Amino acid sequence: MWDLIVVGGGAAGMAGAIAAADCGDRVLLLERMDRVGKKLLATGNGRCNLMNRGAPRYRDNPLAAQVLKRYGAAQQEAFWHSLGLMLYTDREDRVYPASLQASTVLDVLRGAMEGRHICVRTDSAVTGLKRTPQGFAVMCAKGECYQGTRVLITTGGLAQPKLGSDGSGFPLLESVGHAVTELRPGLTQVMTDTEPIRGLEGIRVRGIVRAYAHDRLLGEEQGEILFASYGLSGICVMQLSAACDGKDRTVSLDLSYGLGLSPEALREEISRRGALPAERLLCGMFVPRLQQALFRKAGIPMGAKPLSASERDRLWRTICDFRLPVRGLRGFESAQVTRGGAETGLFDPHTLESRKVPGLYAAGEVLDVDGDCGGYNLMFAFGSGLMAGSRGRKMRGEILYADR
Ligand SMILES: Cc1cc2nc3c(=O)[nH]c(=O)nc-3n(C[C@H](O)[C@H](O)[C@H](O)COP(=O)(O)OP(=O)(O)OC[C@H]3O[C@@H](n4cnc5c(N)ncnc54)[C@H](O)[C@@H]3O)c2cc1C
Repeated sequence: MWDLIVVGGGAAGMAGAIAAADCGDRVLLLERMDRVGKKLLATGNGRCNLMNRGAPRYRDNPLAAQVLKRYGAAQQEAFWHSLGLMLYTDREDRVYPASLQASTVLDVLRGAMEGRHICVRTDSAVTGLKRTPQGFAVMCAKGECYQGTRVLITTGGLAQPKLGSDGSGFPLLESVGHAVTELRPGLTQVMTDTEPIRGLEGIRVRGIVRAYAHDRLLGEEQGEILFASYGLSGICVMQLSAACDGKDRTVSLDLSYGLGLSPEALREEISRRGALPAERLLCGMFVPRLQQALFRKAGIPMGAKPLSASERDRLWRTICDFRLPVRGLRGFESAQVTRGGAETGLFDPHTLESRKVPGLYAAGEVLDVDGDCGGYNLMFAFGSGLMAGSRGRKMRGEILYADR
């Protein structure tokens, strides 16, 4: 009989297992893949942006704020310190391992689990969960059945199932009466009409991206935009993907921003260049393929003659408001997170214990919490894992990993 059975060996599961062991629990961790932490290794382009020291940025959900109030940056830093992981913070408050290698984070987590005698069973996909008089029976695909007093579900969502999270945790929670909200890909690329951006694949440009439903502005982000064969990518585009998810959505690119000019200043600059042949008007501003796409979109030939004032105005408008109808979002295979998940109102925000099924806990992306790019999703996974594993218990009168 285990004190705690953790289902899923990702960020939340490993943090939860370690916190529970630090409180004296005998812990079994079950992972469906052949090793734990596969997704962790892919995070932050292999560098693992594990938290952010700035203000929380989660889609309107009070649970994330409550969890991070208790297990926020200071406690997580103390946790990493206790495991011997050195950290590095960049100018945008994003925190990475000092080695800038995700594998270093996994190494310390695996070392900590080994040091605490946490029993880790890989190739153990959990397929069933039943309540028993003593707690829970946890059934695996290969027929094993484990008994635990408590169970912590940390199976992640549906994003990039090749890294392990195939959504199989949701039916487990539903089987014991938990509701799961609609599941959608989050932080993902946006598919658009491809004709206006034909030939631009691989070009990066800095700009402001705006999402509209008809003419209603739904959100905007600035940063690097990457043109792709299917539409648009880049962190700012992924950040805006939730706003692009719906009927009659359009994105607009304002490329004046990347030139360091306001739209008005760009208008003056184009007017100042008015005597130049059209084919040289945007020279020094954009790469030739992008210049051609801008002329094409504005419906102006890119010839040897200078443009008329009205053509210059049309070209300027196109640069500041390059509209592309949205055709959908790329799917879970390329998403970084899942929007939606187990309904958070059914979990106690101080312990993450189910209000419906005593002894059952959930943490990480399996819950209906998702944050922006910048370390917020791993921060919630680790913070909620620590909260659920420790169940809000204190050690020597202080919460675990308190900043001393
Ligand atoms: C490419 C990529 C890059 C990212 N980069 C960042 C970043 O830099 N910073 C950031 O904050 N966030 C990043 N994210 C998001 C972040 O990785 C996730 O939000 C986070 O890993 C969620 O942690 P988790 O423990 O809840 O779930 P996961 O990390 O997905 O772990 C779930 C684990 O449960 C296992 N599992 C699933 N079902 C079962 C089952 N039935 N039985 C047993 N085991 C099961 C899975 O195999 C997996 O190991 C990135 C995501 C991706 C895909």
